[in-house]
Amino acid sequence: MEIYKEKIATNRLDRGFFKYQDEFEQKALDVLRSGWYVLGNEVSSFEQEFADYVGSKYCRGVANGLDALWIAFRVLGIGAGDEVIVQGNTYIASVMGITINGATPVFVEPDEYFNIDADKIEEKITDRTKAILVVHLYGQASNMDKVVVLAKKYNLRLVEDCAQSHGAKFNGKVTGTFGDIGCFSFYPSKNLGAFGDGGAIVADDPQIAEDVRVFRNYGSEKRYYNKVVGTNSRLDEMQAGLLRVRLSHMPELEAEKRKICNRYLAELKNPAITLPKIREGATHIWHQFVIRCERRDELIKYLDERNIGTIIHYPIPPHLSEAYAYLGMKKGDLPITEKYAKTVLSIPLYIGMTEEEQSYVIDVLNAFR
Ligand SMILES: *Cc1c(COP(=O)(O)O)cnc(C)c1O
Repeated sequence: MEIYKEKIATNRLDRGFFKYQDEFEQKALDVLRSGWYVLGNEVSSFEQEFADYVGSKYCRGVANGLDALWIAFRVLGIGAGDEVIVQGNTYIASVMGITINGATPVFVEPDEYFNIDADKIEEKITDRTKAILVVHLYGQASNMDKVVVLAKKYNLRLVEDCAQSHGAKFNGKVTGTFGDIGCFSFYPSKNLGAFGDGGAIVADDPQIAEDVRVFRNYGSEKRYYNKVVGTNSRLDEMQAGLLRVRLSHMPELEAEKRKICNRYLAELKNPAITLPKIREGATHIWHQFVIRCERRDELIKYLDERNIGTIIHYPIPPHLSEAYAYLGMKKGDLPITEKYAKTVLSIPLYIGMTEEEQSYVIDVLNAFR
């Protein structure tokens, strides 16, 4: 097989820009000319539109996804001495959202869909457990029926990390609306991506929405009247305006990724490669297309030699990262999480991926021996 003329990267953000270039450029000019750059009309319009999209009563923009997470736990009053249940195989930001507040993460193994194994949560609940943080990893909704029942039964707060799951549903309900707070990131590579950093919190409780609104802006309720010691975590007008453009195209963007991934599912045929599975009742918005391979490191090299980029999401699980050495966990403590870290691989997937590019990726993957 001839090697493809140019490198096929795992992600191509430029293609996503050019798809709506005129609209993005017009919006950028409008914001520049408006004379108002932080927390203005673009932000409040985006907050309304994003709340409607998710099906939540309130949305508050913040500076990034990590801020959404730690501010969520902060306004829920979760901190030192409290335990928060979270899956072992997540991006480290999920865990930092817990530990920045001084709370302790308690890790649960994932299921075969890469999400928290709901059947393994109950055994980890102690009298210090205050919340469950569900991460809808790679874009697929978690098993929310079971999680919601457990949260109610033990009177736990439920927070969702939706940084990878904008618009993904479980039994028809959008992720971010199952618990107390839904946390979103609009980092450029996410399905709803900005052109810089951005994030949001969604909630149905007006008090939570108000607490976040105050907290994100130095704890100030009214200019120069500070109610609590808050932070500076504001969404800016440029990002909010550009996000509004992209949000208005979400149905077609979701359909495009679904089409690419359905083709991968139908045409990738190699016994050395395990394809991602979709849970009954769940939708997958395909933030990443994650395969598994026992000989992953060989596969990465093979693909790289043939001009195909890949990324490992994620090579070191949080419990084994240097940052969390203080938790005192060791190799073997979370065998399934650790096995995933050794075998998962994200293959090229982006808005604007051509049929020709995808055909090449499929042929090369199918020829791996
Ligand atoms: C991207 C991401 C975050 C953090 O978002 P930032 O905007 O980069 O701070 C948190 N959790 C998950 C699962 C993510 O993928």
